[in-house]
This record gives sequence, structure tokens and C-alpha cells, in this order.
Amino acid sequence: MRVGCPKEIKNHEYRVGLTPGSVREYVAHGHEVIIETRAGAGIGADDDAYRAAGARIVAAAKEVFEKSDMVVKVKEPQPNEWAQLREGQILYAYLHLAPDPAQTEGLLKSGVTAVAYETVTDDRGGLPLLAPMSEVAGRLSIQAGATALQKVNGGRGILLGGVPGVVPAKVAILGGGVVGLHAAEMAVGLGADVTILDRSIPRLRQLDDFFKGRVHTRLSTIDAIEEEVFAADLVIGAVLIPGAAAPKLVTREMLSGMKRGAVIVDVAIDQGGCFETSHATTHSDPTYEVDGVIHYCVANMPGAVPITSTHALNNATLHYGLQLADRGLKAIAEDRHLRAGLNVHRGRITNSAVAEALGYEM
Ligand code: NAD
Repeated sequence: MRVGCPKEIKNHEYRVGLTPGSVREYVAHGHEVIIETRAGAGIGADDDAYRAAGARIVAAAKEVFEKSDMVVKVKEPQPNEWAQLREGQILYAYLHLAPDPAQTEGLLKSGVTAVAYETVTDDRGGLPLLAPMSEVAGRLSIQAGATALQKVNGGRGILLGGVPGVVPAKVAILGGGVVGLHAAEMAVGLGADVTILDRSIPRLRQLDDFFKGRVHTRLSTIDAIEEEVFAADLVIGAVLIPGAAAPKLVTREMLSGMKRGAVIVDVAIDQGGCFETSHATTHSDPTYEVDGVIHYCVANMPGAVPITSTHALNNATLHYGLQLADRGLKAIAEDRHLRAGLNVHRGRITNSAVAEALGYEM
């Protein structure tokens, strides 16, 4: 199969669908790989690195779309990209179709077979191509929070780990899933006093076991949230109710009970956020203040660290990508996890959640 990877064109997107290391794997499987020139510039991989891995470099995205049997990307195709897709071609990328009727229409019209990273499943009931970005965002949330807590950035002026003789900062993490776990690991590593709240007791048991007493765990109730948020210097919003908007666990009223200069990092902002006062921000202007509380609500946090994010994403996408390249549509027919990833095929929506969200018949 001929596998192609264009340069990402979405605003401030520096990740790339294929690393040189992934190209080498596709080539080892007998596939031909074409890469748009400078596609890897955002992660420091130049055209020579791709050539050395066995790819052919082409001058424009047009050639990638025209000549590839499978197009591998990171972000959902933009309007001029979906116009270049065609029947018989496989698209393998994040799509997030449910809130995006225009893109859905575009993909349906193109006839392309589109496999969405975010709906591919694994044997443990997880979403393996979504998890690496939650790992990145979780870890990054503590760095972002620590920076915002500095006085010059509007924060209280407290160091997360304290120093010998001075107590550390308090960190409350709402939601102990993938984001919450990775946030807690970083906060504990820096020496902060960490509490994780989750509504699942089995999950709290796992976390308690994992951290061996280095974090406090609490069942997420209104009382517990209020107490922890009021005491916290840094609050991380990391809840998820699959398929639904994030619950507003911290109301505007509660902000008045928080410390002045405390920081909220609402990682769940891509699902609407779990603080009533959250609204999405960007990397170029990431924070704002409400009632003396600093809010950081960047919707695409992994974009800040494209090298780490691209490698983490490729680690997860490679296995399924190779199956698609090796066996084409047969791989989708025979593997239920890839089938769960299939969102659009020859002008029809093939994922029930997406169809339902957009009001299409399946
Ligand atoms: P996850 O499913 O692994 O974990 C979510 C956790 O929230 C679960 O443990 C669940 O029990 C818990 N939860 C649900 N309702 C709760 C409540 N009322 N109180 C306390 N806990 C509750 O999800 P995840 O992968 O950790 O993702 C968390 C959020 O971060 C999602 O909205 C995801 O889309 C988002 N995210 C954002 C970015 C970004 O750049 N902003 C990047 C990656 C992920």
C-alpha cells in the first residue's frame, strides 16, 4: 500500500502523523511511504530523517492526497483537505465528528473510509489512541499550574514542593482517570500535598494502592469537593463522563471560598470543563482570572509539547496503522477494535454514537 502523511495545517498544530521511526516500520512491512516536505518540522525531524527511514518526500500536500491509499494525520481534515479525499482511500486520524457536522458532510461526500483514533478500542475496554494525549495533558497540567502559581503570573506565589522547613502546596485533583493519575504522579514527584477525588471507589482503591500512601484519596461528593477546593493552591479538573459534557463540579459561588491567587487547570475543558467559570483558552493566551482565581483552560494542551505528543501518539497508532496498511478493509472487517474506529465508509456513517449525535440513520 502507498501510505502518505501531509503536514498538519490546523492553526498551531506542530505534531505530525508519522515519525521517521514509524515510517521505517511501514517500509519494513513492504509499504511505500510519501511525506510532504517539512511535515516533521514541528518535532525537529527534517526531510533527510524521513528519507533515511525510507520515505519519499513530495513538495505539496496535493500529491500526498492524490497518490496515497492511506492518509495518516493527527488532526481532523480541514475543508480543503477533505475535498481532496476520495473513495477507496483510508483516512486514519483524530476526527471528533460528533460536534462537527460540516466535516462529517465533507467526509461522507468524499466517499473516503475514515478510521477515527478517538473511537478505536482495546481488549480492556479503553480508548488506546486517546490515552496517550491524556497522559501528556495530565503531566503538563502540573507544569502549567506551577507556572501560573508564580506571583509574576498572577498566582499566590507558592512553590509546589515547598522547601525543608516550609510546608508544600496543596493540590486537589478532580477525577482520578488517566489525566488525574498522571497529574498526581508529577505533583507527588515535585513534593506537593496531593488529594485525588473520584466518584468510583474501585478507582480510588487502585490509586491508593498505586501511590502507597503518597496521595490522599476521597470520594467525590459536594462536601468533599468544597473542602478540598477551598484548601487547595492548585486544582486540576480531570473528570470525564464518556460521551457527555463534563459535570460542573465547582460553581462560581465556590470560587469565593478559594484562596486568592489559587490556580485552576481545567483539563476537561475539551468536554466543556468542570468549573462553572471555565472557558477555552489558547497557548498564546492561556490564563484569565475570575474572583481572584487564575484559570488555565487550554483545549489542546498536548500541542505545547509536540515532540513528546507525536512520539506518544505514534507509539499508540502504529500497531493499528500497520494492520490497516497490511490488510486494508479486511483488517477493519476482522478486528472489532478497528471496526469501532470506523466512523465513515463510502458515504455512510458507521459509528452509532456519531450517527446518533448528528441525527443520521445508520
Ligand atoms: P478518564 O475516563 O480516564 O478519567 C475520568 C475520571 O473521572 C474517571 O476516573 C471517572 O470516575 C471520574 N469522574 C467522573 N465523574 C466524576 C465526578 N463527578 N467526580 C470525580 N470524578 C469523576 O478520562 P481522562 O482520559 O483522564 O480524561 C479526562 C478529561 O481530560 C476528558 O475530558 C478528556 O477529554 C480531557 N483531555 C483534555 C486534554 C486537553 O488538552 N485539554 C487532553 C487530553 C484529555
